[in-house]
Amino acid sequence: MDTDVIIVGAGAAGLAAAKELARLGLACTLIEGSHRIGGRASSTEIAPGVWFDMGCAWLVGGATNPFVTIADDLGIRLSKDKSAVFELPNYRFQRNRLPLTPAEREACLRYCDDSYAAILASVKASRDVAIGDVIDVSHEFAPPFMDGVAVGWGLDVDRVSTADFASSEGELGYQAYSGFGNLVAAWGADVAVTLNTRAEKITQTPQGVTVETSKGTINGRAVILTVSTGMLASGEIRFVPELPDWKTMAITGLPMGTENKIGLHFDTDVFGSEGRGHYSTWNDDGTAAKIDVSVMGFNKAVIFVGGRSAIALEEMGPTAMQDYAVDRVADLFGNDIRKHVDHSITTAWSIDPWTRGSWACAQPGQAHQRANLARPVEDRLFFAGEATASGAQGTCHGAYESGIRAAREAARHLTMVT
Ligand SMILES: Cc1cc2nc3c(=O)[nH]c(=O)nc-3n(C[C@H](O)[C@H](O)[C@H](O)COP(=O)(O)OP(=O)(O)OC[C@H]3O[C@@H](n4cnc5c(N)ncnc54)[C@H](O)[C@@H]3O)c2cc1C
Repeated sequence: MDTDVIIVGAGAAGLAAAKELARLGLACTLIEGSHRIGGRASSTEIAPGVWFDMGCAWLVGGATNPFVTIADDLGIRLSKDKSAVFELPNYRFQRNRLPLTPAEREACLRYCDDSYAAILASVKASRDVAIGDVIDVSHEFAPPFMDGVAVGWGLDVDRVSTADFASSEGELGYQAYSGFGNLVAAWGADVAVTLNTRAEKITQTPQGVTVETSKGTINGRAVILTVSTGMLASGEIRFVPELPDWKTMAITGLPMGTENKIGLHFDTDVFGSEGRGHYSTWNDDGTAAKIDVSVMGFNKAVIFVGGRSAIALEEMGPTAMQDYAVDRVADLFGNDIRKHVDHSITTAWSIDPWTRGSWACAQPGQAHQRANLARPVEDRLFFAGEATASGAQGTCHGAYESGIRAAREAARHLTMVT
């Protein structure tokens, strides 16, 4: 036997599982298909000294997020004093290039409250239906709410489960000045990872499991799979025997949503201290975005698009995405900002070969599938990753906690059978 546990995927879940197994005294081999650790936690320098997170950026929940202690221990600076900016009551709403009047703003926030209440009522009545079935989608202030669902869940309101939505915990929280992706990479740097090694086939054997990879076969007593539901659904990893129906149904009930981001950097402070904030902007022509404008003081705006429009923009390509983003920032700050854009970055998560989307989102009626996705198969195949979390689903800390959970489950089983 080569190892006790083979872990597939070195994102937050896989790294946390490896650390937990080491703490419990078990050997593991962690393989990662791509050239780097972190998975959907990945930071890129958009301009010298200015970081842009391609994936996770917020330490959701703020002080309670486990990555806060990790950052503090590593001496990594967080924007702890800025978190209130990202709370709904502090959003800046703008329609057709004009800020809402105080009365409109009040009506908009009331609509959001009423929509949340309708979602919670459906869950209380044990009706796990589409959000679009319980909110007033034709309301004057439906566009920013529906855009918020598409950005936050990666699917549009007709495809998001009310129960899944209601179970999600935590406000947007803090960001790391040097990038959440860099924080995860720094925390995971002490874990031994075999990079550029793709799992292709997983076979259960009387002794445990074999994982056939692009670089050879590894034998272990158990495996922890941390890949996204997009990867599990793609069929790129074959299972022998095939996964049971209940597991396949869990995977298909939790398809990947898409949120894409466009980062724009400006050659001067086009926003001023008054302009910094988190914006929700929409126009009658159907264009909309959530925009994080220079909250941490850099000359940077991050434009968020979600759901069908995120995929449509992605298909049009990076130049179209950048133009869309510049248009939305110009909606807020005027056309003069256009000439100050000096760097940009776009994401394309729906076609990312290692995830096939941004995060998993439960289809209407399928919120219960997260528990099934997390359930082991035959005490040999253990499952972790953001999609298996309940409450912190779709987040980096949810992935981290799921890795610890799966490591403990595997350890409990292996200790019992020793
Ligand atoms: C645009 C975007 C914005 C986000 N914003 C936030 C946010 O603000 N806050 C937050 O908390 N979360 C956010 N998230 C979600 C967060 O990034 C993820 O939930 C989390 O990073 C997932 O970690 P994971 O370990 O479950 O999966 P991953 O990070 O996807 O790790 C799985 C790993 O498996 C590897 N892999 C895949 N297939 C194979 C294979 N066959 N063999 C070997 N390796 C394989 C992948 O390369 C990957 O490294 C965001 C995500 C996106 C995309």
